[in-house]
Amino acid sequence: MTDGKIKIVDGTLMTPDKPIIPFIEGDGTGPDIWRAAQRVFDEAVKKVYQGKRAIQWKEVLAGEKAFNQTGSWLPKETLEIIDEYLIAIKGPLTTPIGGGFRSLNVALRQELDLYVCLRPVRYFEGVPSPVKHPEKVDMVIFRENTEDIYAGIEFPEGTKEAKELVDILQKDFGVTSIRFPETSAIAIKPISIEGTQRLIRSAIEFALKEKRDSVTLVHKGNIMKYTEGGFKNWAYDLAEKEFGDSVFTWQQYDKIKESHGEKEANKAQADALAAGKLLIKDSIADIFLQQILTRPDEFDVVATMNLNGDYISDALAAQVGGIGIAPGANINYVTGHAIFEATHGTAPKYANLDKVNPSSVILSGCLLFEHIGWPEVSKAITSSLETTIAKKTVTYDFARLMDGATEVSCSGFADQLIQNL
Ligand code: NAD
Repeated sequence: MTDGKIKIVDGTLMTPDKPIIPFIEGDGTGPDIWRAAQRVFDEAVKKVYQGKRAIQWKEVLAGEKAFNQTGSWLPKETLEIIDEYLIAIKGPLTTPIGGGFRSLNVALRQELDLYVCLRPVRYFEGVPSPVKHPEKVDMVIFRENTEDIYAGIEFPEGTKEAKELVDILQKDFGVTSIRFPETSAIAIKPISIEGTQRLIRSAIEFALKEKRDSVTLVHKGNIMKYTEGGFKNWAYDLAEKEFGDSVFTWQQYDKIKESHGEKEANKAQADALAAGKLLIKDSIADIFLQQILTRPDEFDVVATMNLNGDYISDALAAQVGGIGIAPGANINYVTGHAIFEATHGTAPKYANLDKVNPSSVILSGCLLFEHIGWPEVSKAITSSLETTIAKKTVTYDFARLMDGATEVSCSGFADQLIQNL
C-alpha cells in the first residue's frame, strides 16, 4: 500500500507505513493543544519506528475556522475526506448558536454513523483527584452514540408538533399521564435491537481481545422497560447467542437460579469465571453511579446508552482527575470509520494563551495509534505521560492542586513529554 490510505479489509484495518490522517485542530484552545499533541505524536512515531513509519497529517476544516473560511461550520469536503481516509482526530469544536446544528460533534457522529463512543478511564499516578482511591478506576466505557434522546427528536412547548404529538398520545394511545398537556415540550427516545446489539458486539469483542473481566450493562430498565429494559435484554441475548462459549451472563445465572436454586447458580458462575469466561452483568444507572464511587474495582468494560453514557463518562473522568486528561473516540467498527477527540470543550477563555492541558487530545491520539495497529507508539506516549506527571511537571490545572509542582505551559508540557519518551 503506497497511497497513504488506511483501508478496511474483511473487518481488519490495513495501515500503510506512511498513512494520511486528517485532523481538525478545533476552536478556542484547540490550536494550542493540537500543536502540542502533533509534535508529541511525530516524535513518538520517529522514536519507535526510527523513520520507517510516519504520519502524514492532513488538515480538514470544521467549526469557526471552517465558517470563517468557507461560510459553512461543517463543509461537505471535510466529511468526504474523513469518509475516504477512515480515521481522523480532532480538537474541541464550538457549538454554533443558530448554525443549524444541535452540535458539530453530534453531526459528525451521525453523518459517519460512528455508533460507539469509546471512553477509557484510568488513573495516572500523581494526578489530583477528589476521591481516596482513584487508582481503583480502570474502566472502558462503550457509549451508544446514535440513538436515545440524542436522536434529536424533540419539539418545543407550544408548537404544532408538540401539540399534535400530545393529541395522538392522548386520543389514539389512551395516554393519561401527561401532567400538563397544554405546556409540555416532547422528546422521543428510540432504542433499537440493531443499535443495541452492534454496540454490545463491539464491547464484548473488545473485552475478550483485551482480556478484561466483565462487561456491565448500565440501564434504567426498571423505569423505561421497553427502551432501557429492551437494551438490557437484547444485550444479554446477543452475548449468549454470538459469544456463548466465551461468556457467562447474569441472565443465565437467573435462569439457573430459578430452575435449580441459588447454590447451583453460584456454582455455575464460579465455574465459568474459573474457566476464564467473560462475565456479562448489569446495573441500574443510579446504583451504578453510587458503586463507581464505593467499589470502582468491580467494574471493567461498561456498555450503555447515549444519555447514561454521557453522565457516566464525565463522572468517571472527574474521579480520576478531571476532563483535561480524559480521551475519547467515536468508532464504527464495521466500516472502520473513527474520529478520535479531546473530550473537553474549547475552554475559550484560555484560547491562544498556550496554557491548557493537552493530555486529552494526546491520549486520544494513543487510542488512535492502538486502533491503527501501532500500539508501541501508544505505550511510549502513555509511559512518558506517567513519568512526566510523576515528576510533577504539569499544566496549571494540575499544578494548582498539587504540592511542589512545576507549572509548565501547554507547549512546555509537550516538550517534557518528548524529553521523557
Ligand atoms: P469546556 O470543557 O470548554 O471548559 C470548562 C472548563 O474546563 C474550562 O473553563 C477550564 O477550566 C476547564 N478545561 C477544559 N479543557 C481543559 C484543558 N484542556 N486543560 C485544562 N482545563 C480545561 O466546557 P464549556 O465551557 O462548557 O464549553 C465551551 C465550548 O466547547 C462550547 O461551545 C461547547 O459547546 C463546546 N464543547 C465542545 C466539546 C467537543 O468538541 N468535544 C465538548 C464539550 C463542549
